[in-house]
Amino acid sequence: MTDTPSARLSRQPAEARPPLEVSFEFFPPKTDAMEERFWESLGKLAPLNPRFVSVTYGAGGTTRERTLRLVSRITAESGVPAAAHLTCVGASRNEVNAVVQGYAEAGVRRIVALRGDPPEGIGSLFTPHPDGYGSAAELVAGIRALGNFDISVAAYPEKHPQSPDWAADIDNLKRKLDAGADRAITQMFFDNQDYFRFIDRARAAGITAPIVPGIQPIHSFKQISGFAARCGARIPGWLGERFDGLDDDPETHALVASAVAAEQVLELIDSGVTEFHFYTLNRANLVMALSRLLGIRPE
Ligand code: FAD
Repeated sequence: MTDTPSARLSRQPAEARPPLEVSFEFFPPKTDAMEERFWESLGKLAPLNPRFVSVTYGAGGTTRERTLRLVSRITAESGVPAAAHLTCVGASRNEVNAVVQGYAEAGVRRIVALRGDPPEGIGSLFTPHPDGYGSAAELVAGIRALGNFDISVAAYPEKHPQSPDWAADIDNLKRKLDAGADRAITQMFFDNQDYFRFIDRARAAGITAPIVPGIQPIHSFKQISGFAARCGARIPGWLGERFDGLDDDPETHALVASAVAAEQVLELIDSGVTEFHFYTLNRANLVMALSRLLGIRPE
């Protein structure tokens, strides 16, 4: 049997492994109990030395204060660089710029810059605020004009649902990177072929920036299927079959989820991927297990 790069990786001593980088995404919790889990998960994942942990920005800016409070505390207390998400929805340029200044004052130098969606969701038409940024590309240019930030933007291996065709989608990604973004992070995807094809399209269009795969471990197939449908990510039939009938069997569900995510990540490593962004949903366990497979252990 020939060794694949991921098989070799998992058996090499730590010092011989190629450097892999991970980042972890969290969302602002709504209740005290959820906030407790947020900090508990962050406490478990921070020692893995991620490049950054990011905190999302609720649709329509609904978590503006919470996102700022969380990234400020992460920066002050955890020793891990924090990245704050930011959207253009329902806010003027001055209001969005004030949020950027707030991040900078809290010592947060990393921003995930997004257009965002109307409160009705990704399917409804985005109408910019009359004095607002009209797209993520405009937002990136605006942030660049305000200071020296590390900026990530979104990419869509299955095409953004509102892009008329692939050329428009890739053009839009290029605009965001040309406006000054440092990297793209992808939407969740479950078929690596979609990611590989996307990379080919981006590279053919002259995009050289890193396009980091966004990996969504399936803590709950039911919940993740709902999220995927809302953001335009396809759940392949074989994936549904693997979780079929496991709604009331959490232990087997967790084992299958771990195997599915491991298979996805190891195949990406075999194709040369060295950076990963994990959607944690504020839970640590599956991400801890995956990080171990990548040879990343608490320091
Ligand atoms: P854009 O890149 O601006 O583009 C979106 C669409 O509009 C594309 O189809 C593009 O082709 C089209 N378009 C852009 N400019 C023009 C133009 N000038 N004329 C015509 N068409 C145009 N949402 C949140 O609310 N909060 C978050 O914290 C958040 N975090 C995310 C993190 C990641 C890694 C990802 C992948 C998504 C995230 N989202 C978040 C979701 C995101 O806001 C939505 O997917 C949104 O629909 C698009 O945002 P964007 O930044 O990709 O938009």
